[in-house]
Amino acid sequence: MTEHVTRKSACRLCGSRTLELVLPIRPSPIGDAFVPADRLDEKQELYPLDCYLCGDCGHLQNLDVVDPDILFRDYTYRTSVSLGLVEHFKTYARSVVSDLAIPPDCLVVEMGSNDGSLLKAFQAEGMRVQGIDPARDIARAATDQGVPTLPDFFTSQVAAKIRGERGAAMLVCANNVFAHIDNLADVADGIRTLLAPDGVFVFEVSYIVDMIDNMVFDTIYHEHVSHHALLPMEAFLQRHGLTLFDVLRTGTKGGSIRAFAQLAATGMRATSSRLAGLMAEELRRGITRPEIYRDWFAAIEQRKQAVLGFLDQALRAGKTVAGYGASTTTTTLLYHFELASRLAFIADDNPLKHGRFSPGAHIPVVPSSELVKRKPDIVVILAWVYAEPIIARKRRLHRRRRHVPGALAGTEYRRPQRSIATVGRVNRFHCTGWEYLLE
Ligand SMILES: [Zn+2]
Repeated sequence: MTEHVTRKSACRLCGSRTLELVLPIRPSPIGDAFVPADRLDEKQELYPLDCYLCGDCGHLQNLDVVDPDILFRDYTYRTSVSLGLVEHFKTYARSVVSDLAIPPDCLVVEMGSNDGSLLKAFQAEGMRVQGIDPARDIARAATDQGVPTLPDFFTSQVAAKIRGERGAAMLVCANNVFAHIDNLADVADGIRTLLAPDGVFVFEVSYIVDMIDNMVFDTIYHEHVSHHALLPMEAFLQRHGLTLFDVLRTGTKGGSIRAFAQLAATGMRATSSRLAGLMAEELRRGITRPEIYRDWFAAIEQRKQAVLGFLDQALRAGKTVAGYGASTTTTTLLYHFELASRLAFIADDNPLKHGRFSPGAHIPVVPSSELVKRKPDIVVILAWVYAEPIIARKRRLHRRRRHVPGALAGTEYRRPQRSIATVGRVNRFHCTGWEYLLE
């Protein structure tokens, strides 16, 4: 074990020491650490990704915690890079303000506010805002653009400071950061400190039920130390003076929930039937029990064997294989499925990734236009949650190519259609020319 990993021995939510390894995901390097050519000689360490289930509260979590300074201080991901998310935040701010009937000029605080995209949307709704984000450069840029942002991690101490300087918050938001935080107890105490008596804590996280149903195990990476369900979460919040009152399911990142909590002592909002219904469903499916995770892991292993069987047969026949999508999730997939040695290169649409090499295995990342030039026989869609838009884009590319005389001369484009069974919501896909493996 390295100096950069701390091993917890107790449940992050309830402190129990009864913990069972249910998902032995293979270790990987930091998923987002795509390296430039001049750093290829630096060895990238592998860190554990094993997931444990708490025998008392049923919370699924990673116990090996990589130093957050390594993970987040040089974070390069900016929300606005992802266009879909910016639009998502606009709708989010509008619906939260109107559904919760938040009066104008209230304080909205967001932890992990990144470049301030969501808070800008709240400013547009007439709110005062305060961001908190440990990535210094991003925090500074957000402040420069009119979204005051503290370059720090959210703690109870930081919460008290904000309350002292800017007053109580009507809304505290945490989008896709509640899975990142090791010391959740201190964060929950900070939220309680910061909230106005009728204030609301809104958070969006990947939902373990959707992760299981959609086979989204690749969102298990080192930044995500918790994989949340409502039952353990509600018990945890109650221990910290908070309680859930509503939940929405959103399609973000392969299936997420947006949950709403209030102060247990002073909150007046009624518990929604949606929340009660989803909690009953979790109970019915045994989401706090180990069996569902053991079954899930068996299904993941089965899928892995199918994928490797298919690829190895193709490789033995002399075919070439490339990957599509260079992101944090793809690193988990590459390592857990042991795909790295089978891929010649990875294509991606983000120019920031071009010319870099995948974490650890150092597979070159190239623009997706290279697919047309290099014509691999098989493209494994590593970013498979986005398989549909990727395929749609490639289809357009192919239609265009048909208009170019001679462009279809390669035999790759004349093979009969073939389909490949896949995971997730995209089940079968036919495409002339390319063989797509959606994983
Ligand atoms: Zn627990």
